Amino acid sequence: MQNTPEKKPHVVIVGAGFGGLEAAKKLACKDVRVTVIDRTNYHLFQPLLYQVATAALSPADIAAPVRAILSKCKNMEVILAEVRSVDVAAKKIKTTDMEIPYDFLILATGARHSYFGHNEWEKLAPGLKSLEDAIELRRRLLMVRKSLMKRRASP
Ligand SMILES: Cc1cc2nc3c(=O)[nH]c(=O)nc-3n(C[C@H](O)[C@H](O)[C@H](O)COP(=O)(O)OP(=O)(O)OC[C@H]3O[C@@H](n4cnc5c(N)ncnc54)[C@H](O)[C@@H]3O)c2cc1C
Repeated sequence: MQNTPEKKPHVVIVGAGFGGLEAAKKLACKDVRVTVIDRTNYHLFQPLLYQVATAALSPADIAAPVRAILSKCKNMEVILAEVRSVDVAAKKIKTTDMEIPYDFLILATGARHSYFGHNEWEKLAPGLKSLEDAIELRRRLLMVRKSLMKRRASP
């Protein structure tokens, strides 16, 4: 027996990284309603971030739209939003501007680097986990290169 749209279990997946996307692909075209929520509208291929940081690739080369990746099946909804909290008792997640109820929740929000209580180190050793991180690193590398070339050119 098929579930009616209202009766279908609602699976909410937070995060469209490798973890979240893999879960969504497994549930695609199945008899469940799936909502994928990410604070960016793209899936980021993190292993190539260093190529963006070193100006070998541009940001668009390593970012693919989540909607396009998951567009094959009708049971899939993608929402661009930042999840702020989870109310486990009420089975609801809260984003900056809405509440979304769920039957099953998959949290695949990844991780950030840690400075083990020494956040002042971040200025000297910035992280490389997002496109913003890679662009900032590229800016710094290009600035260093520019000042080295200037120094070499001066007598
Ligand atoms: C520079 C670099 C190189 C790497 N190289 C390799 C490699 O060569 N081989 C390898 O196997 N692995 C590599 N990794 C590791 C690999 O990329 C990670 O293990 C993988 O991306 C983790 O996937 P994830 O889905 O757990 O998290 P992520 O890919 O980090 O995805 C988490 C997603 O959740 C979203 N999110 C987070 N918080 C919220 C929130 N509150 N609300 C809404 N959305 C949210 C984020 O926007 C993101 O899209 C590398 C990682 C880095 C940073």
